[in-house]
Amino acid sequence: MLGMMMDQPLLISSLIEHAARFHGDTEIVSREADRSIFRYTYAEAAARAKQIAKAIARLGAEPSDRIGTLAWNSHRHFELYYGISGTARILHTINPRLFPEQLRYIINHAADRILFLEPSFVGLVEKLAPALTTVRHYVIMAPRALMPPTSLPDALCYEELIEAETPELDWPIIDEQTASSLCYTSGTTGNPKGALYSHRSTVLHAFGSCAADMLGVSAADCVLPVVPMFHVNAWGIPYSSALAGAKLVLPGQHLDGESLCTLFDQERVTLSLGVPTVWLGALKYAEETGKGFSTVKRIVIGGSAAPPSMIEAFDKKHGVHAVHAWGMTEMSPLGTVAASKAKHATAAPDVITHVRCSQGRPSFMVDLKITDAEGRRLPHDGVAVGNLHVRGPWVVRGYYNDAEASAEAFDAEGWFKTGDVCAIDPDGYVRITDRSKDVIKSGGEWISSIDLENAAVGHPDVAEAAVIGLPHPRWDERPLLIVVPKPDHVVDKPAIMSFLADKVAKWWLPDDIVVVDQLPHTATGKLLKTQLRKDFADYKLP
Ligand code: ADP
Repeated sequence: MLGMMMDQPLLISSLIEHAARFHGDTEIVSREADRSIFRYTYAEAAARAKQIAKAIARLGAEPSDRIGTLAWNSHRHFELYYGISGTARILHTINPRLFPEQLRYIINHAADRILFLEPSFVGLVEKLAPALTTVRHYVIMAPRALMPPTSLPDALCYEELIEAETPELDWPIIDEQTASSLCYTSGTTGNPKGALYSHRSTVLHAFGSCAADMLGVSAADCVLPVVPMFHVNAWGIPYSSALAGAKLVLPGQHLDGESLCTLFDQERVTLSLGVPTVWLGALKYAEETGKGFSTVKRIVIGGSAAPPSMIEAFDKKHGVHAVHAWGMTEMSPLGTVAASKAKHATAAPDVITHVRCSQGRPSFMVDLKITDAEGRRLPHDGVAVGNLHVRGPWVVRGYYNDAEASAEAFDAEGWFKTGDVCAIDPDGYVRITDRSKDVIKSGGEWISSIDLENAAVGHPDVAEAAVIGLPHPRWDERPLLIVVPKPDHVVDKPAIMSFLADKVAKWWLPDDIVVVDQLPHTATGKLLKTQLRKDFADYKLP
């Protein structure tokens, strides 16, 4: 017997409709390239999303056509999120920090039909355009007065497209499994791979992320996603903010500590999200000026491991609850969040630290397992370390038009192989120790590069640290620690070594320390260890 409940598809358009109807006067604030502030409401954004949807149809885009965006976190980008997906076209957000070769690859691979770009990317796209085989229209996201001169063929003006349309449109009712958006991983090895989300997966993910123990977005929040809308949909914030009716602040392209902290104060931001490197800058500015975190209640840190020293700095120096989270492009991205449980209210400080500094426990709808090299399940005892596999309704079941990558990505039971290595404790808290390709194998045992890096950045002279394994005749591999000093600090190697001595097992201590001015990063701000392994390939450990 079937239940007698309404069968209503889960559609992205329903998020913006809900926000427009029940949070119509809630603000969306966007900082423009010239740092001026643009301000409007969900009701106005919803109307403009309909106008741009109609303009896209007029340009000849059919349902299922991919439409690319090269844009910062901005109000026009927000409108495209809804205008493109809401009418069954596929929003392809493109990371402008990828190498030109990768950009050319993904735009052609996605076969984008229209490319929306902000003025700051005109130079980049002009160089790519001759090699883009499928793009029929370039739309510059600006009013006529701010249209830059360009050699792009027949470049269109976003605001003129909007002005030519009325906001009357009934969003189409489509199958909830319809593809909604496409996001490529940064492809540190091989070509980038496309995760193709659906309306259903996106709405479920938005629900999941609003849960109190996840991102906990509510209508009482003012949310500022620092994580870009071109990187896994800003961790879903453009959707979850609309679902919750939260005030949304889109910071544009200026993401240094001062620019962020100024916006936090001005707009009374309560929740912000970003990768650890972004928080380094904001913490430094806040420490020097005392500004920035007076209204902020929660900061979500993810994308790379958050060092315990950073979580502590937020808590102790600024009274901000720092929340560690883990996820992947292939998971929309939310996997785990480090929220405590009732029993932790009376737990010993080291238990709390373990919980808060872990990558967290899974959201409802995200299932986890760890396996050994033969694919056998390992216990969730907090000790066994293995390969992390996941499944759930917002996890990919293949890569877009990439049979080869899809064939390799899943285990025999159909779980997605994350490529991360971790332990899971009996309460479900995950501790990521490495990416499997970064694990250091020494004397048959694994050394966690993440744990060593976290320990090293706890030293007051160290700004950033990376650990890689180098070949060793006796132990197979041994760790090399590479550090960047804080500005105006000098790194004393013996001091770092003795600092680490009581923080990690003795045999984990690096065989050597190298001081450098900067470390290489991927387009999403992660340490580029493939490059480091190349750079230090000939380095001789003492
Ligand atoms: P890309 O592969 O495009 O750089 P993703 O954002 O999809 O981007 O990267 C996901 C990976 O980032 C995870 O598999 C994991 O290795 C790493 N990661 C994300 N969050 C964390 C975290 N909190 N701690 C450690 N690693 C993390």
